[in-house]
Amino acid sequence: MIQIDNVSKHYGSFQVLTDCTTNVQKGEVVVVCGPSGSGKSTLIKTVNGLEPFQAGRILVDGTSVGDPKTKLSQLRSRVGMVFQHFELFPHLSIVDNLTLAQRHVLGRSTDEAVAKGMGLLERVGLKAHAAKMPGQLSGGQQQRVAIARALCMDPIVMLFDEPTSALDPEMVGEVLDVMTELAQEGMTMMCVTHEMGFARRVADRVIFMDAGRIVEDRPKADFFDHPESERAQQFLARIL
Ligand code: ATP
Ligand code: MG
Repeated sequence: MIQIDNVSKHYGSFQVLTDCTTNVQKGEVVVVCGPSGSGKSTLIKTVNGLEPFQAGRILVDGTSVGDPKTKLSQLRSRVGMVFQHFELFPHLSIVDNLTLAQRHVLGRSTDEAVAKGMGLLERVGLKAHAAKMPGQLSGGQQQRVAIARALCMDPIVMLFDEPTSALDPEMVGEVLDVMTELAQEGMTMMCVTHEMGFARRVADRVIFMDAGRIVEDRPKADFFDHPESERAQQFLARIL
């Protein structure tokens, strides 16, 4: 579903990604972890064309992300992304947040978009909040809305970049629960997260990055029980 082949990226002389190669199969859940500045956000953003790269190739469901002929808006409508900061439109109600892109990008009617949005809002347990403004919801609730908004577009892949790291601890669980359900339903997911409990429970594979390189890319049990690199061992010792 996602094929990343020998991707490298630099800013001037600073190498952010070096020769990154990995694949994510349909229905697979891959957790990306590693120290701050190791290139996790950059890697995940290359997948939906938010970060250009200079070398290598990325295919999402057969579409080449770096190809100038690829319509990035079309690609992005099929690749859901949820960031650390919820990035809901603050001046739009929850239901309007959920319907905007459906109407403008997918051309759905208002009725259709509202029905889809309400269904997903119910799924993340927030149907009663449809008419509220984002500022009236807690951080955890806003993040669940952000996930529902991405799902409104019927994505073939979901990308997450530290979706719980800006939340108060008591709200982390409710967001991870939604992500866990999504994974169990077979969504293809690539998640940057430091929630190693989530990784242990839900991930199929763990990618560990250091200084712009993919240092480990292994089934989760192998990664947690026998991390190969010293860097990953240190990382796990600190985080677990
Ligand atoms: P964190 O855990 O802190 O989110 P990360 O692993 O997501 O870190 P990235 O945000 O991908 O790391 O950044 C990788 C490196 O690229 C960092 O050293 C960062 O300073 C650098 N970097 C990111 N964006 C730019 C930019 N626009 N110009 C120059 N350097 C950048
Ligand atoms: Mg990051």
